[in-house]
This record gives sequence, C-alpha cells and structure tokens, in this order.
Amino acid sequence: MGNWRNFVSNICSKEDNVEALRAEAEKGYPYYEVYPRSINRVGTALLMTARGEKEKCLLVIDEDERLQELEGACTEESGLRVKVCPLSNENCNVIRKVFPYTNPQPHRGKNITIGLGDRLGIASSGHIETVRDFDVFPVLSQQSIRELNLTGRTYEDVISSAAWAVFQEGYAKDYGADGDHLKTAEEVKISLDAGMTMITLDCSEHMDNPAASADISELGKKYSGFTREERDRWERKYSGKDISIGGYRFHITEGDLIRMACVYRGAVRHTLDIYHNIIAKCGRPIDFEMSIDETLTPTSPASHYFLASELIDGGVEITSLAPKFSGEFQKGIDYIGDLKQFEEEFTIHAAIADYFGYKISVHSGSDKFKVFPIVGEKTNGKYHLKTAGTNWLEAVRVIARHKPDLYRRMHAFALEHLEEAKKYYHIGAKTENIPALEGLKDAELPDLMNKDDSRQVLHITYGLILQAKDENGKSLFKDELYSVLYEYEEEYAGALKKHIGRHLKGLGLL
Ligand code: ZN
Repeated sequence: MGNWRNFVSNICSKEDNVEALRAEAEKGYPYYEVYPRSINRVGTALLMTARGEKEKCLLVIDEDERLQELEGACTEESGLRVKVCPLSNENCNVIRKVFPYTNPQPHRGKNITIGLGDRLGIASSGHIETVRDFDVFPVLSQQSIRELNLTGRTYEDVISSAAWAVFQEGYAKDYGADGDHLKTAEEVKISLDAGMTMITLDCSEHMDNPAASADISELGKKYSGFTREERDRWERKYSGKDISIGGYRFHITEGDLIRMACVYRGAVRHTLDIYHNIIAKCGRPIDFEMSIDETLTPTSPASHYFLASELIDGGVEITSLAPKFSGEFQKGIDYIGDLKQFEEEFTIHAAIADYFGYKISVHSGSDKFKVFPIVGEKTNGKYHLKTAGTNWLEAVRVIARHKPDLYRRMHAFALEHLEEAKKYYHIGAKTENIPALEGLKDAELPDLMNKDDSRQVLHITYGLILQAKDENGKSLFKDELYSVLYEYEEEYAGALKKHIGRHLKGLGLL
C-alpha cells in the first residue's frame, strides 16, 4: 500500500503550506516515507517523491496544466485526488521542464568538480548528501560507453536517475552529466543527444604508442610524411624552444618535437575534428575534456604542452585534460608507484593546465588516498576528479553485511568470470590472496571490501554480475541486489557519505 497514504490522509488533507509539509514529513519520515525535500507546489498541485513498497514513486495531489503529461495511476485518499507516477524517464522529462534545477548544467569556471559515477542509478542521493555543504560541483551523471554496455543502461537512464535524486533531495545547486571516455563521433552524438553537459573524448586509439619508444631515425620517415605546412608550423613553435611555465622549465629539442608529433598528431586531429564538427555545433555550452589517460605512454610535460597548444591554437575550448600520470591508477585501490615522482610531475602538469586556462583531470580517482593531498595542494584548488567504481563497491559492502548468501553467490560468480571482465579493465589483483569463502563466517564478509584483491575482483565484474541470467532468462543477481539496496537505502547513502567524505577529506576539503 505504501505509507505515503498516511501522509496524504493525515497531513496533506489539512495542511497546504510547503514548508510545514516538509517539516511534518521530516519529523515523521519512518512512518510516512515521503522525502521531505521533494515536496513542492506547482500551481494548485502538490508533488512529492515517496517510497512505495518495492519502488519509489512520484505523487501528484490535485492537478496543474504543467503536470498533465505525467503518466500514472489515479487514486483517491481522504477525498484528495492522487496520481501515482513511476519514476520513468518520460515522467522525469516533465519534471525537468517544470523544475529547471533538475537538469544537468555545464561547469566551466567552477574550481572543484568531482565525477561521481553511479552504475546502479541509486547512488546520487548519497552523493548529494556528501557534497551538499561544500563548494564542490558534482558531476552526478558520469558513465562511459563501456559502463553502459556492461550495465545495459542508456544515457537517458543515467540522467534520469540523477535528476530524480536531485528532485528528491531538493538539491538546487547545479550538477553535471559526463559522457565519459567517448571514442567516436557516433558516441559523442549519442551522448549530446541525451543531454550530457560534459564530453570526455578518449583519444588513446588515435595515438601512436610505439612511436614513444621507437628509434628516432625511424620516426624521421614518418615525420617527413606529414605536410610541409604542419612541420614548418611545429618547428617554429616548438623546436629548440625553452618553455617556462609557473617556475618550471623544459627544453624541446628537434628530436622531442619529431617524437611528440608522431605520437600525438592523430589524437590532435581526431580532437579537432570531433570538437569543431560536433561539439561546437551542438548549440549549447559543453565542458570539453580530452583524455589520454588510458594508454601505455605516460604524458611528459613537453607532450602535455604540445597537445594543449595544438588544441588551443586549433580553436578548442578545453575545460579539462586528463594526462596519463606515472605510476598506476588501478580501479578501486590506492595509487601504486613512486609518490615523489608523481608529485613532481603532477605539479608541472597542473601548472601547464593553469597556464592554458583549464583544469587537470584525474581519472580512476576512486580510493587514491595517497595522491589526494597532492591533487588538492598542487592545483591551487582547481581540478576535476573522477570516481565511479568505489560507489558500486559500497553497494556490495551493504549486500555483504545484510545478505551474506547473495554476496557469496556474487563473489563466486565474479571469480568464475574474472578473465572475461579483465578484457575491459586492467587490474593487478591476485585471486590466491583472496580467502576461500567456505572458511569465512558471514560476519567476516564485509571486510572483503577492505582488501585490495577482493575489491578489484568485485569491482570489475559489476557488468557480468548485473547481466547474469539463468536458463529461463531470469536475472541471477540483479533483482535481488536492487531489492536489498532498496531495503537498506539509508544505509547505502550513509556509506557513500562516509566513503566519498574520506575522498573530500584527503583533498583537504573537510
Ligand atoms: Zn579515464
């Protein structure tokens, strides 16, 4: 039936002041299960998000022209007409028209922006709670095509999940939507059509990685194949130049130029093509990020400088750029590598970004506690940081705590299908370090989410877990997993607040 009926009949039938209704909903939340900050008035109609037995719904009491397109089932409660609407994408579009703050917005000019990818579509309210009181712009919708393929979701779904959470939490500060790691024109178009406000163009496939270590005499051949006009321009701009940025100096030799041109020319051309032919023509401001983090070649300061000046001279407005840093940024675990070297290089990368007027972007930023203080400090508080997988792992932890049987099945499945998942993600996890489940008591299961090897195994197998079906086509884990997380909604939000809060603390924000 849904406890919201109590709220409608006991409270809404007597009170119509929004503030007073919110206060009542807050006070009696366990009894009413109406989200206090979602209560809004549109003309004569009253709107609110409520927890139904199995899923949330939007309640519309009375009518208003602007809400006519909302689809739902009409019922009556204490003489009030109530329309119970599912939180569908179509209904979300109506809400987004009526409440403009529920739409994602670009963030160019904002100092600290954090990507909070939500693969399950249920983490945004916890994320909003985490950042609400800080000067942090959250990119609540952030998914790569790889993630969409693995979860079976669309960009429309991703934006709707965030927009519904924004409505539920009454979060009137802005948030963003990042089409992450897009590689082709088609992917960029899909992402823009769905309303994403940030495009992260992954140029790794357009780089010539072997050229980074090839013999210079070999590169000369390739280089001389580029146009005369290009070579003249590069030679004037870079060859034999001393570059001095923010107190850092580096020298670019003719050999450096030849190598950089060979490695990055394709990436620059691809970026210019996508940017000018699609992004700049889309008719609204877009935060544009270029990423070369998922490649074998660490980005040297000179290469970063070369890329940035080629793009900016080519008319690209860059909001952020994600270089490949030295060391390893593996999924869901802390930084692996020489922290001192990272600090030195990161400082120069941040200075180059600042010089050109964009922000440095740190990808795979989940759980990189060792590097957060450096990111917070060396950027003068201007950076973009992306997290995603850690939010899924917090969900897994809630499952391990409350449904050990489901966790055990997911864990066994993850181990069984690890090789498949490794096609998409590179991890260093060693399964021999993971204790056998049979030897663990139920109470010990959540602790597996504190250990690197088991974290990574569960981290990268999310898509396989979510899509797994039995021979009758029934999901093996997905429905059960969502229903546990629905039951423990507040606990999941609390876990996210605590865990992402640790990220903010490391960055020096709290
Ligand atoms: Zn990345």
